[in-house]
Amino acid sequence: MPKESFQVTFWGVRGSLPVPGAETIRFGGNTSCVQVQIGEQLIIFDGGTGIYKLGQQLVKNPAPVKGDIFITHTHWDHIQGFPFFSPAFIPGNRFTLYGPAKTDNTFAELMKGQMVYQHFPVSLDSMGAGIDFCELDSGEDLDLGNGVRIRTVHNNHPNGGISYRVDHEGRSVCYVTDTEHYEYIDPDIKSFISQADLVIYDTHFTDDEYHGYEGYPTKKGWGHSTWQEGIKLIEAAEAKKLVLFHHANFHNDKDMETIEKDARKRYSDCVAAREGMVIAL
Ligand SMILES: [Zn+2]
Ligand SMILES: [Zn+2]
Repeated sequence: MPKESFQVTFWGVRGSLPVPGAETIRFGGNTSCVQVQIGEQLIIFDGGTGIYKLGQQLVKNPAPVKGDIFITHTHWDHIQGFPFFSPAFIPGNRFTLYGPAKTDNTFAELMKGQMVYQHFPVSLDSMGAGIDFCELDSGEDLDLGNGVRIRTVHNNHPNGGISYRVDHEGRSVCYVTDTEHYEYIDPDIKSFISQADLVIYDTHFTDDEYHGYEGYPTKKGWGHSTWQEGIKLIEAAEAKKLVLFHHANFHNDKDMETIEKDARKRYSDCVAAREGMVIAL
């Protein structure tokens, strides 16, 4: 029996701040959103501004839309597009929003919080589609049905976060963003991405920017990693393709081309995420 299609589409590849404009036109300016489509099964990672265009695409289909949306954490660049996600306004559509369990506010409260009347005219509860919430603790393992398995691991990031791995019929993609490396290779993330086909990794900074060389102030403790650390990690875990992701708002197209070229010299199976890029597994 032929395997089901397994496709990864990048709708937003930026970190921190949307930066549209002439200087980011080739890599894109929208914040984090990645679609994983396995046959009919729709999985979305993060709801940054990239989710707007994904929504526009999904509403072209007359059939009801059903999907699982996994949020790494509720920093703005990972949720700010959700109020503009058109399929969530259509009755009959159904989404489950997954996010990290917190002790101070529930995940649902945090998602609804950006849509209180003072911030946005429509509340999340009155968007129209059926929206369920599911809180996750890192390390939890989910079965989405049809042989699709989701695994989670904790991120090293201010106020925490979760990375996700999808496995289906022997193929796998990991979405590991908003996490800072340690001075040693994190054994939890290493075993989490072990032998994965595709690893989308937080390469917000270069090593120079991170360490504060060449006059940059150090970015230690900001919760992000570098492409150099991404390569170390992927090699240690014997994973395959590395996708550089969560591009810093201050890296323009020229910077990104240099970063991608430098990274490929060290690890050839590597690409910098671009808006609209599709990778079939
Ligand atoms: Zn971010
Ligand atoms: Zn963050």
